[in-house]
Amino acid sequence: MKLLVTGGAGFIGSNFIRYVLNKHEDYTVVNLDKLTYAGNPDNLADLEKDPRYVFVKGDIAHKELVSMIVRQMEIDVIVNFAAESHVDRSISDPGIFVQTNITGTQVLLETARENKIKKYVQISTDEVYGSLGETGYFTEETPLAPNSPYSASKAGADLLVRAYYETYGMNVNITRCSNNYGPYHFPEKLIPLMITNAVEGKTLPVYGDGLNVRDWLHVTDHAAAIDLVIRDGRPGEVYNIGGHNERTNLDIVRAILDKLGMGHERIQFVADRLGHDRRYAIDPAKITAELGWKPQYTFETGLAETIDWYLANRDWWHRIRTGDYQKYYSKQYGER
Ligand code: NAD
Repeated sequence: MKLLVTGGAGFIGSNFIRYVLNKHEDYTVVNLDKLTYAGNPDNLADLEKDPRYVFVKGDIAHKELVSMIVRQMEIDVIVNFAAESHVDRSISDPGIFVQTNITGTQVLLETARENKIKKYVQISTDEVYGSLGETGYFTEETPLAPNSPYSASKAGADLLVRAYYETYGMNVNITRCSNNYGPYHFPEKLIPLMITNAVEGKTLPVYGDGLNVRDWLHVTDHAAAIDLVIRDGRPGEVYNIGGHNERTNLDIVRAILDKLGMGHERIQFVADRLGHDRRYAIDPAKITAELGWKPQYTFETGLAETIDWYLANRDWWHRIRTGDYQKYYSKQYGER
């Protein structure tokens, strides 16, 4: 099977590529990634010599490039991870989110259609469903109600994927997952930000009252779910993927400090994010029943392993934190 994986130099895409190449000897992967601030070739340095892996630097919205790759490499399946993915950045600069997340997806779909590829899988997010109250779960039938420019752009892309199924009968799937965590997670996101700040002796900034709830999924469990969807997902179906690990942001930050043996006085509450969704929680019953998927990690084991990974891989995140990211960090949270 020949996969075109887009955005494979990012957090989830790089973990997914490593997962499928380890699992399936007969798979080859072309990774098309623009290498934005979030794309880091270091994430896949261990695969550089693997003949089954090819990296191409480029934009998913570049039609000629995408068509050339699909034709020359005889791609069977496209898995689209490429996205602008950070909610805070979408609030300060929404335009690029529309360009990459919507236009880029349309270019991939059109190329898939023209070349009659076997399957197209869109990696989406539970954020397209909006925010939940204190109870209930997002199912695949929950209406789309995105609240941030990021989630609106992802919802727009999902609707295009649906339209390519309804209009052209293309074999597509959409997966919507909860918050991922694990190795190679860019240190602007909650868990790695808190771990790396704690290790560097900084304060740990928590939005609002810290009681926003997210449902956490280990990135390897997510990769396993996508692998199943590629092989067995029914055409046109949406699959929600979540680990039933609901935690408040404050719970997470406290758990990180506890594991590192540090006091909670380092937590600093900062002004809440605009339009901050209160709670997300996924019901993964469909993918469990249809494809037999179940998460392997408990949150406690996964978080402990993730903290250990960041402690053992300081060079990886140190390089990121001393680069351009630093400027963004100062603008977002002020100098500290
Ligand atoms: P990420 O920001 O770590 O990686 C995104 C990758 O896409 C980067 O390597 C970047 O260089 C690349 N990219 C950006 N624009 C591109 C373009 N125009 N052309 C080619 N490549 C481009 O993101 P992630 O956390 O790995 O998320 C991957 C996907 O999963 C995204 O589609 C995101 O919406 C979705 N998702 C993520 C989470 C999460 O918890 N991280 C949760 C739900 C859904």
